[in-house]
Amino acid sequence: MKQFQTESKRLLELMINSIYTRKEVFLRELISNASDALDKLAFRALTDSSVGLDRSDLYIKLDIDKDARTLTISDNGIGMTAKELEKNLGVIAKSGSLEFKEGLEQNENSDAIDVIGQFGVGFYSAFMVAERVEVLSKAFGSDKANLWISSGTDGYDIESAEKAEYGTTITLYIKPDADEETYSEYMETYRLRELIKKYSDYIRYPIKMDITHTHAEENGESHEHTETETVNSMLPIWRRPKADVTDEDREQFYQDKYYDTAKPLSTLTVNAEGLVSFTALLFIPRKAPYNYYTRDFQPGLELYSDGVLIMDKCSDLLPECFRFARGVVDTRDLTLNISRETLQHDRQLRVIARNLEKRVKDELKRLMTEAPDDYAEFWNAFGLQLKYGIISDFGSKKELLSDLLMFRSAKLKKLISLQEYADAMTEEQQYIYYAFGDETHANPRTETVLDSGYDVICLGEDTDEFVVQTLTKFGEKELRSVNNDDLGLPDSAEKKDELEKLGTEYKDVLEFAQSALGDAVAEVRVSLNLKSAPSYLTTRGYVTLELERYFKSLPNSEGEQMKAERVLELNAEHPAFAELKEAYISDKPKAEKIAKLMLYRALLIAGVEITDPGAFAELLDSLMI
Ligand code: ADP
Repeated sequence: MKQFQTESKRLLELMINSIYTRKEVFLRELISNASDALDKLAFRALTDSSVGLDRSDLYIKLDIDKDARTLTISDNGIGMTAKELEKNLGVIAKSGSLEFKEGLEQNENSDAIDVIGQFGVGFYSAFMVAERVEVLSKAFGSDKANLWISSGTDGYDIESAEKAEYGTTITLYIKPDADEETYSEYMETYRLRELIKKYSDYIRYPIKMDITHTHAEENGESHEHTETETVNSMLPIWRRPKADVTDEDREQFYQDKYYDTAKPLSTLTVNAEGLVSFTALLFIPRKAPYNYYTRDFQPGLELYSDGVLIMDKCSDLLPECFRFARGVVDTRDLTLNISRETLQHDRQLRVIARNLEKRVKDELKRLMTEAPDDYAEFWNAFGLQLKYGIISDFGSKKELLSDLLMFRSAKLKKLISLQEYADAMTEEQQYIYYAFGDETHANPRTETVLDSGYDVICLGEDTDEFVVQTLTKFGEKELRSVNNDDLGLPDSAEKKDELEKLGTEYKDVLEFAQSALGDAVAEVRVSLNLKSAPSYLTTRGYVTLELERYFKSLPNSEGEQMKAERVLELNAEHPAFAELKEAYISDKPKAEKIAKLMLYRALLIAGVEITDPGAFAELLDSLMI
């Protein structure tokens, strides 16, 4: 008996003792090898006319023998000589397997096991389900056949044998069922069919199986007959000529594949030639899957290497912010045997990812302008995802995403994009204004901005504060909260004069109020922007009340440090202000109470938690008697 080369032996041991749950991938590997062998022969026929071969004669066949507990996988491909059997199956010579093994060495834990399912690991995966493997092969053009036999790590034997046709027949002696593993399933027609559909449907050669059908006769009896059928569909929808596939076909494919009752919102077909050639078929769903915003949702596209599935959730093909897109990518420019680490850094893959990112972005932009109702539906389902996209990775995707955002306009009472907002801006408008709460929520400062003729976008979600903080600008225009102390409105000169005058006139009472409120506010001042409200809270600088609230809600107390600098504005035209002035002269303790009430009132409207409810209650009590 011959010994396996040390490296091969290690890989083999790993396969035999694999605790990996998806042992089923062995079938994909063997079918893919068979398909390669058919390719090689087809190629030889192309370049050598003496081969005289019809491509349509090439096939792969699966046979089950339950009594012998075997599964055989045969092909009439190029076959192997004794030397080739020795070289190909006795040694890990192939770069893919080697890469895989190197990956293992760097990462000697269960993660490595997972790699098996994701990447081609080749022939040895047969040992995950078989206790003994026989490879009977006859090389094309040779008159001798050979049998390679191995029961695992002990080694292997090669002997001469008989085989009528050229090609290779691999016989797997399926392991006995164990406690947690029912290997017998790999001798069930339905199961093998399922696996072929799952992993090898698009192999370009027919994968045949003998399928038994039962027919019920009218007299109640039934009879069986067996037919050899092709199980795979051979040509995937994305590789069929464009003219042969209708939009309905693609939509149906989407619905069947992703179990969606609704048609997709958009279907994208990409046929790229150039640096990297690939075909992609992508879909944008209408609704978010129920677990979309949870950890359970696994994003990623299916990655095919020339019709062979090599990864079913390849998340490196699209940026995280577009994880809602589903579909497949097929390229000849990636090898089947590729490890996860190499995949991530694969240049080709990055080229594909960049291309797809652009396609998805363009499609969303198209929907936005050409099909606003569809875009609204998309926004409803995945708007939050785009917002997350803006704030994650330190805003690295904000260029990509900012013009896809939608906000409610206080003026137009509908969703608008930032671009629409910007288009409607006048020359002298300095900022893009935003406010928290819906547009009906009475906010005197929103009203002030609206009165100046400018629109205000309304934010409602927790993430929104971060979205605006991360964006800071759209185009050249800065985003600014209506609660910002400085709104940059083109106040008339008279108004400014008047404010200044009032400020000087009421200097004493304002200073009094400020000292009564202590460090709760940085400044107390008069305002002419407050409509019917007696008082209102604004902030100065970067930290807004919303941001402060968010940081406070974080479990680490550092958030406590993030405090908005508060400015209490008092409405100089409100009777309550007259009361304050009056009391300041005649009854200072009362004036203090009014000042405090004005602050509490402003805090309540701003939605800021009152930190001293006891004091507030006492204050109210004192006013009731
Ligand atoms: P890989 O497919 O990555 O090269 P494998 O371990 O799966 O690695 O197979 C090793 C080699 O054995 C293949 O490269 C091929 O040359 C040969 N081989 C495997 N299966 C077949 C087959 N059915 N017919 C012909 N050659 C085969």
